[in-house]
Amino acid sequence: MKLLLSLCLLSAPLAAMTPDEGLQRLVDGNNRYTQDQFISPDRTQERREEVVSVQKPYAIIVGCSDSRVSPEIIFDQGIGDLFVVRVAGNVVGPVELDSIEYSAAVLGSVTVLVLGHENCGAVRAVLANQTKDIEAIAELMEKGIAPFRNDQADAVSNAIKANARAMAAYIKTTPILGALIKDGKLKVYPGYYNLKSGKVDILDEK
Ligand SMILES: [Zn+2]
Repeated sequence: MKLLLSLCLLSAPLAAMTPDEGLQRLVDGNNRYTQDQFISPDRTQERREEVVSVQKPYAIIVGCSDSRVSPEIIFDQGIGDLFVVRVAGNVVGPVELDSIEYSAAVLGSVTVLVLGHENCGAVRAVLANQTKDIEAIAELMEKGIAPFRNDQADAVSNAIKANARAMAAYIKTTPILGALIKDGKLKVYPGYYNLKSGKVDILDEK
């Protein structure tokens, strides 16, 4: 991976967008989605031709596999806009990290959004210690959500947000992505998707 990154970095300039602009583009797209005002960008023949030999997705979405949280739809984006890493519970292990690093370091993505969502079945299962079928996911999730394993009414939503924050915090500590962040070329945010309204809340990082 390191050799691949160093070779590709020579030829692939970063996208001409700042991390803050990348986040704003996601927020704007989500606002269009929640207001049923889609513009459905980048879905034409012209766009497909544009990205045949090169892609420069400006954002990386680390999301849950859940069928209700499809990134291109909820952010009103199109072909070549988002590099999407989806896995139940939006956890980040070695495989997911390699994918995130590739898009950030090679393709020039500037914004990472780790997107938890309301009523996430994977988080609920780990909270309830029902991890028999999702042991690998539970292992990655356990530390972040353990403090919420009690009977309080909003334990599930708190744990979902804590999981998104924990994965975002982890991503920031990794060497390749940490260096990009230090250079101002990348920012990582945790987020929370509300199923009914469709709104994505950008979370603080506490
Ligand atoms: Zn989920």
